[in-house]
Amino acid sequence: MLCTPVQPWLARRLKVTPKQLNLERLRNYQLRQLNRTLALAADQSPFYRERLQPWCREPLSDLSELAKLPFTTPEELRSQGMQMLATSQSAIERVVTLESSGTTGSPKRLWFTAEDLARTQEFFRCGMSQVLQPGYRVLILLPGELPDSAGDLLARALAAMGVESRIAGLVLDAGRWADVLAREPFDCVVGIPWQVLAVLRHPLAQFVPRGRIKSVFLTSDYVPKPLVAEIRKRWDCPAFNHYGMTEFALSGGVECLALDGYHLREADFFFEVIDPDSSRPLPPGQLGEVVFTTLDRRGMPLIRYRTGDLSYWHPEICPCGSFLPRLAKIHGRLAARRELDKGLSLQMPDLDEILLPVPGLRNYTASLTRQDNTCTLQLILEAAPGREPSTLWAVERLLPEIPAVRAALDQKCLQVLPPQLAGAPLPVSATVKRSVQSN
Ligand SMILES: [Zn+2]
Repeated sequence: MLCTPVQPWLARRLKVTPKQLNLERLRNYQLRQLNRTLALAADQSPFYRERLQPWCREPLSDLSELAKLPFTTPEELRSQGMQMLATSQSAIERVVTLESSGTTGSPKRLWFTAEDLARTQEFFRCGMSQVLQPGYRVLILLPGELPDSAGDLLARALAAMGVESRIAGLVLDAGRWADVLAREPFDCVVGIPWQVLAVLRHPLAQFVPRGRIKSVFLTSDYVPKPLVAEIRKRWDCPAFNHYGMTEFALSGGVECLALDGYHLREADFFFEVIDPDSSRPLPPGQLGEVVFTTLDRRGMPLIRYRTGDLSYWHPEICPCGSFLPRLAKIHGRLAARRELDKGLSLQMPDLDEILLPVPGLRNYTASLTRQDNTCTLQLILEAAPGREPSTLWAVERLLPEIPAVRAALDQKCLQVLPPQLAGAPLPVSATVKRSVQSN
């Protein structure tokens, strides 16, 4: 198996040969960059000047000392983002506004310099270089109309390696793109998991010649294992999981051919996995919240930014042979976890793993209502035409097989209503921002 391309990319960034690169060199580089970031932030950013004042008199002598510094939260980014800037606004290439996930509060705004965006493009090329060659064609099922949007940045990054892209935008009509894939030779597809599934399961997708699509990259949401298996079965190709979020300037890590966790963009970010309750960094194997600090960002540094994403460090060395640490696939979000009972919680990844294999299921939404000590779970399904009864039946039968649902049913703190069919196709937002809604 080919070793992750993240390793030679890191060597280039650290200005050493791939043979000279080792974990000690990487950590030393990160410590130097971290101290630079802290000095820049304490000097130039009004928010961090105040925040770091008690800590930043001396540079850190070890990366473990970072753990004593305070976190930056998404709420602070939302309310004090402007004060986090460490450069003049004229040096900023792109301002990204993220919709607020709650019903109150202002939206998150992030500022990126041209250099920040160029680094993202460099990492896009690194991740995709393991499957793309000059002359290949990529179908990008991501928004790309605006300059520097995800699709646009990716397409321009790929053009620099001689790869042609077509930006489709979010999938509003799965049949159209299944038909395009059947008629036109695309070597690679990039998209959001349930949107790619909708294309994959469309009847027209059966005309895509096996072996033509050589790889799929899935981003922005949880990637259920059965989806990777179904892509392998139908299109006979690997499906790589990319770890993206806007706060990274879109790209934080990417899977290697082992397809089991991300090698991270560690020249640009220092990552931690912390216990969300005690805030302590966790050892490999223990699930916690992913926290990152930017190492090379001039415009808007983020220090110990709490992503809300749940994951853990893989305890074993990656089968690709790399010495680099490996972050397990993101297993949902802290804020999206819905409590069923003491110690029992539920979120979309738990449902996705069990329900995705239902062949007629195109998408679904889930809602959880609480009254006194009992929760009620209700799913609304979008099923393939003609397969509605079998889909309803299969989902109803599978729901008690979800471990948290089973345990809650046994403890008599959960009631599961029979699933219902959506009256109309579920809106695109239900495919892109999936979470168990609580009422
Ligand atoms: Zn690997």
